Amino acid sequence: METGRNDAPENPWPRWVSSVTTAAALPAMALGSYVLWRGRRAKLPLWVGSWGALMTVSRRYICARCPYYGEYCSTLFGKMTPIIWRRSERPLNTRGFYWDIALAPVLIGLPAPDAYRLSKRCLLAYLSTWALFLGTLHRLGCRRCPLDMCPFNPARPGGGEGDPGRCPLSSGRRIAAR
Ligand code: SF4
Repeated sequence: METGRNDAPENPWPRWVSSVTTAAALPAMALGSYVLWRGRRAKLPLWVGSWGALMTVSRRYICARCPYYGEYCSTLFGKMTPIIWRRSERPLNTRGFYWDIALAPVLIGLPAPDAYRLSKRCLLAYLSTWALFLGTLHRLGCRRCPLDMCPFNPARPGGGEGDPGRCPLSSGRRIAAR
């Protein structure tokens, strides 16, 4: 599935959404860093590098090709990407999102054992920070998103029950554009 700029619908996200979804990621970043600092500091370069890759490398294959490049969108990546990448003429497709998918297990999983070693309550708190971020992103960002090539998009074509492309968090309902 690919999309170009000309056939993309009007930006469906109210301007405040990108700040809220991006801010919702900060507790996970902070607690993950704290846990690794208290636990296995040797993991910190991989942790910081993975966040760096999410904010840079991934954006080249996703946001730089996106019709909402340079705009307030589902996250602040739309506004941040022009700082590092020029707009790409390549079409946005499902393969581009595999960068984010490949980084997710590292970003979520790396501090988890160290959080558990600190305490079960710390692990619960850490996992809750990810639930906060992913839940907020899904609720405010994904459910308005017209980019149906994204594997996380609840409105992905064929998004019926049991469709692997359907977001497991999804209710399948879409929020009307503003
Ligand atoms: S809508 Fe998604 S893919 Fe497009 S610029 Fe915003 S964050 Fe990136």
